[in-house]
Amino acid sequence: MLNNTNIDADKSLPEAIECGPMDNEECYRSLVEQASDGIFITDSQERFLDVNNSACDMLGFSREEMLGMMVQDVLTAEEYAELHLSWKRLMAGHTLLNVWQMKCKDGTLMPVEISAKMLSDGRVQGIARNITERKRYEAQLIHLATHDTLTGLPNRSLLQDRLQQAILKARRNGLRVAVLFCDLDRFKRINDSLGHDVGDKLLQEIACRLLGSVRESDTVARLGGDEFAIILENFDTEEAISGIAQKILCALTHPLMITQLNLSTTTSIGISVFPEDGDTVQSLLKNADAAMYFAKARGKNNFQFYSQGITAQALEHLNMEINLRSALERKEFVLHYQPQVDMQTGRIIGVEALLRWHCPEIGLLTPEEFIPLAEETGLIGPIGEWVLRTACMQNKAWQNAGLPGMRVAVNLSSRQFLQQDLVQIVERALNEAGLEAGYLELEITENSIMQNADEATIALDKLKALGVHLAVDDFGTGYSSLSYLQRFPIDTLKIDQSFVRDITTSQDSAVIVQAVIALAHSMKLRVIAEGVEAANQVTFLMENRCDTTQGYFLSHPLPADKLTAFLMNL
Ligand code: C2E
Ligand code: MG
Ligand code: MG
Repeated sequence: MLNNTNIDADKSLPEAIECGPMDNEECYRSLVEQASDGIFITDSQERFLDVNNSACDMLGFSREEMLGMMVQDVLTAEEYAELHLSWKRLMAGHTLLNVWQMKCKDGTLMPVEISAKMLSDGRVQGIARNITERKRYEAQLIHLATHDTLTGLPNRSLLQDRLQQAILKARRNGLRVAVLFCDLDRFKRINDSLGHDVGDKLLQEIACRLLGSVRESDTVARLGGDEFAIILENFDTEEAISGIAQKILCALTHPLMITQLNLSTTTSIGISVFPEDGDTVQSLLKNADAAMYFAKARGKNNFQFYSQGITAQALEHLNMEINLRSALERKEFVLHYQPQVDMQTGRIIGVEALLRWHCPEIGLLTPEEFIPLAEETGLIGPIGEWVLRTACMQNKAWQNAGLPGMRVAVNLSSRQFLQQDLVQIVERALNEAGLEAGYLELEITENSIMQNADEATIALDKLKALGVHLAVDDFGTGYSSLSYLQRFPIDTLKIDQSFVRDITTSQDSAVIVQAVIALAHSMKLRVIAEGVEAANQVTFLMENRCDTTQGYFLSHPLPADKLTAFLMNL
């Protein structure tokens, strides 16, 4: 029987219930039975004395069953222990408020919000509210905050938590943790060309494949966009990590069927390992990311371990490489043209095309800063072809504008010079521009000729047959052997600016330049002096019968429009 309860009848009574002073007991009983919360009373021995229907329904017991049970029977061991810790407070008349789990008849645990109070005679009355729905809702909110909605994978914040836990555990147990940073190659292209729906499906499929490539205990997270990260624990050796990275690469290269499209994608993976590559969440993620950039630069679809070599400088180099790869497409290259003047007539007889790169991220770059990288990566092929085409078209445009005919000189790097299809590329550039071959000069360095003299002979002969002029650039800085030049169909020798710079101050330089001019003339070669900056240099070169000069004295290299104005004003 529910007696002496401290329920405030005036406040709790629903309006529909009417009760007079005589039927108090019936009135309370009805009230208690109407409550949707479970209500119970126990004796001082913790035996249930009374329960309402909601309590029975909630836990799945009949009223009779419950009345034979103890509090201990419906609480977990931990919670029962906790109840005893609070016993003193209960006895002091405090109300106990807690969120606990109650054991149901079928063995399941039900989250409840419990409020209990001890009466003066030692009985305890309590109310238990089923909060399963609220808990589910809370869990959903937590899931939303810690998971990626598209793939259902943990998001960056959960990944960081888990990595932190893994580091702590590994530190305690002397173990290692690996972080694999995966970035899909060319995902943007798929997303842009096939639409976001296809892109989303692709990411979902990738998430499945990543999950399938690791153990259930490992964490696979999506960091955003096309970036995923994996935390690996419990591995013995570096080979084990490599094995998993390899497995991921294979899993992703298998074609993916997405809305009847057969897509394929690859990924680049960077790996960092605790403790050697970092001992914090931030440093491990940062270094795995840096290693991933290395993997991209190494041709994508591969994995790289972080190493001390991946320094800021190396990353800068990589950054430049990544930018260089898109520079042509983004139209970031321009040619400047530096005039060459005939010493006898004073006429401009040619211009040298000099490449500039306006990189939005890095700034203006001179060829010496990026041509070596372009060579190393093979990008010199398309870039060189662009230079040739642009220079030929510009020269044709000057001719069409009625300016006197002059040659445009284009620099070829050694790798370009050895390209199998160089002759076809040159021919194509001339044809496209409608420029006669005689108006194009190709500059090749001594070194690139001498590196492979036999192939060079064949290439130079073919180019010569086209009718283009051939010049040896930076003469004096390499083999400096005039005798070999007889083997090649060369027209022009460009004396390197390092000699020209000192002709008026150093006897040695003066003698070398005099000798080179004399010898070149004896071989019927034209001589251009590079880097002419001062009037006394011009006088010296004139006296020594140099044919042509080029340098700041006459003009700096200029953009095409400025050079047009320069030529028009002569
Ligand atoms: P280069 O072919 O010997 O070009 C002459 C360099 O000397 C140019 O530097 C030019 O701006 C600079 N110069 C011209 N007059 C003077 C002067 O009076 N004083 C001084 N101190 N310098 C002068 P730039 O444009 O920085 O080019 C450097 C090198 O990069 C070129 O040397 C050439 O080897 C290479 N290069 C330029 N454009 C291309 C290209 O389109 N393709 C390839 N493969 N290499 C290129
Ligand atoms: Mg040159
Ligand atoms: Mg030069």
